[in-house]
Amino acid sequence: MRYDQARWTNDEARYEPLLSEKSTTEVSTDDSPLPDDLTRDSLALPDLSEPELARHYTRLSQMNYGVESGPFPLGSCTMKYNPSFTEDLAAHPAAAVHPDQPTRTTQGTLELLFGLQDYLGRIGGMDAVSLQPPAGAAGEFAGILVAKASHEHSGEGQRSEVIVPESAHGTNFASAAMAGYDVVSLASDDDGRVDLDALEAAVGEETAALMLTNPNTLGLFERDIEAIADIVHDAGGLLYYDGANLNALLGQARPGDMGFDVMHYNVHKTFATPHGGGGPGAGPIGVTAELAPFLPSPQVERSDSGYEFVEPDHSIGKVHGFYGNWLVLVKAYAYIARLGDGGLEDASAKAVLNANYLAEQMDFEVPFEPFHHEFVASAGDRDAADVAKRMLDHGVHPPTTKWPEIVSEALMTEPTEVESRRTLEHLAEAFNAVADEDDETLAAAPESTAARRIDQVRAAREPRLSWQSLGEYTGGRTH
Ligand SMILES: *Cc1c(COP(=O)(O)O)cnc(C)c1O
Repeated sequence: MRYDQARWTNDEARYEPLLSEKSTTEVSTDDSPLPDDLTRDSLALPDLSEPELARHYTRLSQMNYGVESGPFPLGSCTMKYNPSFTEDLAAHPAAAVHPDQPTRTTQGTLELLFGLQDYLGRIGGMDAVSLQPPAGAAGEFAGILVAKASHEHSGEGQRSEVIVPESAHGTNFASAAMAGYDVVSLASDDDGRVDLDALEAAVGEETAALMLTNPNTLGLFERDIEAIADIVHDAGGLLYYDGANLNALLGQARPGDMGFDVMHYNVHKTFATPHGGGGPGAGPIGVTAELAPFLPSPQVERSDSGYEFVEPDHSIGKVHGFYGNWLVLVKAYAYIARLGDGGLEDASAKAVLNANYLAEQMDFEVPFEPFHHEFVASAGDRDAADVAKRMLDHGVHPPTTKWPEIVSEALMTEPTEVESRRTLEHLAEAFNAVADEDDETLAAAPESTAARRIDQVRAAREPRLSWQSLGEYTGGRTH
């Protein structure tokens, strides 16, 4: 299929001009009620008609690729289509509460938060939930702080190590290190799962926790999870569940039943909410009853007089302002309530079916099986980044690339449950078409997008963080 992204060109520059480049007018600040030394003499503001404004934003959206443009099989990210009714609810005037409002005026808000704590607890098999962390990584950090507080409380503060499998997401290593732990990396066995002998050898009196996701980042279920839990618990450590792959388990199995003590939920992955560009998200954490006293504060409880905020006895304190990313939580609540038990179970079953249906048609090799909701193909002797860029020319978003490193030139692919059989076949055709193309074509890709391939090294070393017209840009660092 041919794909051409809109290019609203301004001469040779391939971009839609900024509003202030289109037309501005000088606005006087003479009438400003602010003191003179706090105001500018005049201000150039964009001066456009309403249709011009609407067209500007429509054009920008046409230069972008989103989940409403086509499939978005970004492995581990669970980029499912987000039903607009969740957005409607988040935009509802009743959702616009001020965080400092007295709780007697926000009982509906608290009821929703309480309901979500309950839903997530039941979905994960956890006894208590805090909704405060604003992302999965923030949930990991909070969860590890909870584990640390519990060790310290029981006189085990000497435990100084967190074990993380080498296939884990980078945030696992970072969260453990930020919480002050030494990170012990754990090798995988030949099947791509936790190597039990290596785990036996790694645990000891220093072990505070093992962080694990299940299915793991290769999409493989850790079949020995009960043995893993025993090894860690026998050594006095806690088991942390990275919930990014929960989309494979909804209604099928629960981390709490597998022996996990603490987990985070990436509600912006599993329960809708777009999270491109780094946000916004929410990363609630769930814990067993033993760890509940250490949860971040506040939590919502129900009493005879209504809903109220409470601070757990030995709380690690706040990890975010107020109650977390409220509107993301509204969307998660709405999504779960709409699907219900049966719908959630069905979503996971279809996510697994879709991943397997897609992989079955792929020419690229998939070294590790049987996988669940995602799989990691190998681009073989091709550069996975080139494959990814070229897929855009075929009208689909590429998978996650070059991670996990266990698979060389990894193409980590997660179609999610929302895609139809037709779309999965189209995705497979795109993968296979790229597999047949020559290296030169791949290296020159993408050619049909509004922005071509960027110089990633230069973008990182010389970031342009404020706007300059192209004429002014000298290539130096700006702030
Ligand atoms: C996305 C992800 C995270 C981090 O979650 P954020 O919400 O992006 O902070 C952690 N682990 C895995 C496996 C992930 O895919």
